[in-house]
Amino acid sequence: AYDGPSRDEVLALRHQYVNPGVLTYYREPLMVVEGNMQYLWDETGKRYLDAFAGIVTVSVGHCHPHVAQAVKAQAGRLQHTTTIYLHPTIAEFAAKLASKMPANPDGLPLDRTYFTNSGSEANEIAVLMSREFTGNQDVVALRNGYHGGTTTAMGMTAHGTWKFPSNPQSGITHSVPGYCYRCPLGLQYPSCDVKCAHDIKNVIEYQTPGQIACFIGEPIQGVGGAVVPPPEFFSIVYDIVRQHGGLCIADEVQGGFGRTGKHYWSHQNWGVRPDIITMAKGIGNGAPLAAVTSTGPVASTMTNRIHFNTFGGNPVSMAAGLATMEVIDAEGIQENAAAIGDLLIGGLTELKDKHALIGDVRGLGLMLGVELVKDRKTKEPASDAAAELMERAKQRGLILGKGGLHGNTMRIKPPMCITKDDAQFLLATIDQCLSEIAN
Ligand code: PMP
Repeated sequence: AYDGPSRDEVLALRHQYVNPGVLTYYREPLMVVEGNMQYLWDETGKRYLDAFAGIVTVSVGHCHPHVAQAVKAQAGRLQHTTTIYLHPTIAEFAAKLASKMPANPDGLPLDRTYFTNSGSEANEIAVLMSREFTGNQDVVALRNGYHGGTTTAMGMTAHGTWKFPSNPQSGITHSVPGYCYRCPLGLQYPSCDVKCAHDIKNVIEYQTPGQIACFIGEPIQGVGGAVVPPPEFFSIVYDIVRQHGGLCIADEVQGGFGRTGKHYWSHQNWGVRPDIITMAKGIGNGAPLAAVTSTGPVASTMTNRIHFNTFGGNPVSMAAGLATMEVIDAEGIQENAAAIGDLLIGGLTELKDKHALIGDVRGLGLMLGVELVKDRKTKEPASDAAAELMERAKQRGLILGKGGLHGNTMRIKPPMCITKDDAQFLLATIDQCLSEIAN
C-alpha cells in the first residue's frame, strides 16, 4: 500500500514550489502512485482504466515488464555518457526504426534518425533540416494542429490557447485542416472537392515567397480532437507542397507505432510518403524519448554545423524504445489497436444515437474523439459537459482526455493492451455519465 505524503501535502508543495503553469486536470487533482498495463491507482488504492495513457504516451502498458526490465538493466549497467562515444543500443534502435519505415520504391529510404528527448525538439530539428536542405525559410502547418511548446513548435501549433503572446513565431503560416465536422470553408464532403487541401496553394502563393522549406501536419490531429481528414487530403497537400519546393513532415508523435490500427504509421492511412517523420510519446512507452527520421541527404544537413543534444540517444531511453518496439511486434499490439478500436467506434456511434450531446464520433484504431455539442444544428461546443463527463468518469474509475480549441472533444487513447472488457466498461461508463449530465 502507498505510504508516501498525502494528496493534500503534495498539492500544497506543488502550489508553493512548482511553476503555476504546470497545469492539472480535474477539480480535485488526481494523484497517481502506481500503474500496471492499462490501469492506474491513486494513493487510496482506487483503480482507474487509463483511457488517456499519459496523453497518448504509454503505448504498450504502464510498467510493461519487458520495457521496465530493459530500463532497469540499462540503468544499472550504464546510465549516461552521451553520443560522443559509441554505444550499441542507439545503433540497434536506429536500425530497428529504419526497418519499420514504409518502403520507398521511387526514392531514398527513410533510414537516418536523430534522437531527442521530446516531440517539440524533434519538430524543431525537422524544420531546421528542411530549411537547411531547401534554402527556404517558410513553414506551413495546419490550423487546429499541435506540434509542441518550444518557439518554432509553438509557432506551428495553431490554437490561440497554446500561443504565448510575446513569443516570436516568424516564418510560419497556416493552412486549413480537413476537419469535416466543422468545415473551415463551410462546405460538405465530397461535393466540396476537398477545397481545404487545395487551399494550401493559396497560402503558399499569397503568404510566402512562393517557395517553402516544409509543410508539417499530424496525419490525424491529436490535441485538436482526433480530427480525421478526408482520405485524399494529405496526397493533395503533399503534391502542392512539393511543387513549391518544400519537404513534407509527418508529425507521428501521437499516431505512430501502430496506434491507428491498420498501419504502423498514421500517414500510411492516407497513402502518402513523407520526407521526414517525427516521433515521440508512444515511441518509448513513457521514456523521455523522441526521434526524427529522414533520408540520408536530408539528414546530412545536420553536419552543416555542430549540433548536440546531451540526453538525446542516451542508453536508458534507447533501451526503452527498443524494448517498446519489440513488444509491439511480439504481442500483436497493432492488431489489438485495430480490433478494440473498431469495437469502441461501433459502441460510441451507438451512444451517439442515444445521447444528443454527442455531435461527432471519429478516429482510427485507438486514437478516438467524441465531440460534444450543446445543439447538433448550431454545433455550439459543449465545453462544460465535457469537463463534467471527465469528472464523473473519474469518479467511476475511468480516465479520459479532452482536446479541441474549446476542450469539448473527449479523447480516448488508451494503452494499446486494452481488452474487450475494458472497452465495454469504458462505453458503459460514458453512457451512464452522459445520461446523468443530460438530466
Ligand atoms: N506533436 C504532437 C502531435 C503532439 O501531440 C505533441 C505533444 N502533445 C508534441 C508534438 C510535442 O511533444 P512534447 O510534449 O514531447 O514536446
